[in-house]
Amino acid sequence: MIPSSELLFHIRARYPELCKASDELNDTARSYIIPGHQGSFGFISSMSDHFCGSCNRLRLTADGQIKVCLFDAKEISLRDEIRRGADDDALLTTIGRAVLGKKEKHAGMEDIDVVTNRPMILIGG
Ligand code: SF4
Repeated sequence: MIPSSELLFHIRARYPELCKASDELNDTARSYIIPGHQGSFGFISSMSDHFCGSCNRLRLTADGQIKVCLFDAKEISLRDEIRRGADDDALLTTIGRAVLGKKEKHAGMEDIDVVTNRPMILIGG
């Protein structure tokens, strides 16, 4: 793995005028601009400089499971709740329970690949 700080170090060596662009609170990318050049570039450094503390993502999978984190295998079935006849308030309570179970951050690189978790291709949504 090459951490984003190392990439930034190399880019800054060539473009010392590099500066941080403004990001929105819940952006996953940390963006930069180089004055005198068009556009911007950013790093989504989920491993070397994670942004879990400001993550507001929730995912509803194609088969009706709510996931509060891509790297957390835990899923709560809204599909089953709906099939049991849950109303909107009950669904909101379930979603709230899922959010309260969201961890502070994902596991480190050494531990993350031993977690049995559905890959993106099976999550959909
Ligand atoms: S690892 Fe989970 S909590 Fe962290 S940014 Fe990704 S989805 Fe959000």
